Amino acid sequence: MRKLLIAGNWKMYKTISEAITLVNTIKAGVHSINGVDIVVCPPFTALDAMSKSVERTSIELGAQNMYSATEGAYTGEISPQMIKDIGCRYVILGHSERRGYFKETDDMVNKKVCLALDYNLNPIVCIGETLEQREQSKTKEVVRTQFENSLKGLTVDQMNNIIIAYEPVWAIGTGKNATPQQAEEVHKYIRQLIVNTYDRTVSENVRILYGGSVKPDNCGDLMQKGNIDGALVGGASLKAESFIQIIAKAKEISDNNK
Ligand code: PEP
Repeated sequence: MRKLLIAGNWKMYKTISEAITLVNTIKAGVHSINGVDIVVCPPFTALDAMSKSVERTSIELGAQNMYSATEGAYTGEISPQMIKDIGCRYVILGHSERRGYFKETDDMVNKKVCLALDYNLNPIVCIGETLEQREQSKTKEVVRTQFENSLKGLTVDQMNNIIIAYEPVWAIGTGKNATPQQAEEVHKYIRQLIVNTYDRTVSENVRILYGGSVKPDNCGDLMQKGNIDGALVGGASLKAESFIQIIAKAKEISDNNK
């Protein structure tokens, strides 16, 4: 049985003091919730403060990105060693905003994934199609290519530490979420790709999150689906109330049927 995971991607929002206020409210709202993995991914500048704030709580910390080298003359970049050192257990890699605005390719994502695993970080690897690709019926082809190339060469042990986030690009920050049926179809397909590349045991272990305009009022129907193991939440993770409601819904679902 896979534990549901709710991760908040704060993107380029929140100063340190704003981040402390947000995480303290989340902490208070989730302190009695167990059985759901909770991750917050603040901007780099707030990681140190967040690491102290979430100490001795069930909230884990993730970074939103990292560079694919341990150290070196890479002005402005942050290494996996550094995010591990500051207290991160997770790192989001290959988010569509990085693929789109910063031209990250599957090869670049793959290098980051491999290095993150070397530092015992759990990569949350984002894949998903654009609206144009969906309209051209290329969703599965795009998702398969991103899956194969971003996760190339991983051993079974490494794959067991991966979290995949299916994030249709047309649903991110747009208020248009994929329907539970649309999302489940792709999640099921991704799970089959894991069976084909590894085996059924690995495919049953790997969590596949849905991301794209997840809100308190749509998260329940999404997470009820058998292959949707939680959510990567952008906008709704910036308000404590909505993020807590999504986590509470995940808890209710996992207590009832998963
Ligand atoms: C995201 O940033 O990964 C995301 C899914 O954003 P939103 O929930 O705002 O669509």
